[in-house]
Amino acid sequence: MPAEESTPAIVLRARDYAESDRIVTLLTLECGKLSGIAKGAKASRHRFERKLEPFSHVNLHFRRRPHGQLVFITRAEAADLAQHVVDDDLAKIALGSYMLELTDALTAEEGEASGAYQILLAGLGALGVGFADSALRQAFEMRLMRWAGFGLEFGQCRACASISLDGGAAVYFVLSRGGIVCSRCRNAVPEGAIKLSGRSAATLARLSDLPIEDSPGAEPAGPDGALALARFISSTLDRRLRSQEFLDSIMPLKS
Ligand SMILES: [Zn+2]
Repeated sequence: MPAEESTPAIVLRARDYAESDRIVTLLTLECGKLSGIAKGAKASRHRFERKLEPFSHVNLHFRRRPHGQLVFITRAEAADLAQHVVDDDLAKIALGSYMLELTDALTAEEGEASGAYQILLAGLGALGVGFADSALRQAFEMRLMRWAGFGLEFGQCRACASISLDGGAAVYFVLSRGGIVCSRCRNAVPEGAIKLSGRSAATLARLSDLPIEDSPGAEPAGPDGALALARFISSTLDRRLRSQEFLDSIMPLKS
């Protein structure tokens, strides 16, 4: 029998299976993203002290199966891991669910993902002690995209490297370049672009480097910046996130 392994993990999604089992997908600190089956999870409060449901932060114990895709989850304990209370507020539920689904979409099973785990942990932590707002959403989106290899540039022109200044001239966000070009370079760039105020670009540049825990309450980019992020994210994903529609209805793209 394969050895038992253990790692801290955050539950991304879970569903009941058969009479008393749960099938759970988790993002772990040490083993990437895993899906597993927890036999008797609905009955055993001893082995599954912490409920295996979205947002649960657990110390996961599991065994791999030689030929199965699902690992066997043997135990899940809260240990002394931080728990994130997000279900006391509709906006927190909406943003938290979006964080889980975006993380799920950008990670692959068993691929290395400790960086994504840390970003999700910081995002849910900020949500748990603070509040849901556009600045936290934008900071989280940019941090996670950067982890996934889609670093965005809002601080300087992708073509001539000139620096965009706060309150300065409008710039143009070009999807395929993952960043902005200045008005001087705009004519030399054939692709379509989203016009951004200098202020929105500068705000996104600032937010992308702000620690996630400091972002709630910071100034968010306006609707033009939010639109640029949303377009970029949907261009990199192969599916539409269900939680995004819900989040957009709770936290509309407004300044
Ligand atoms: Zn330029």
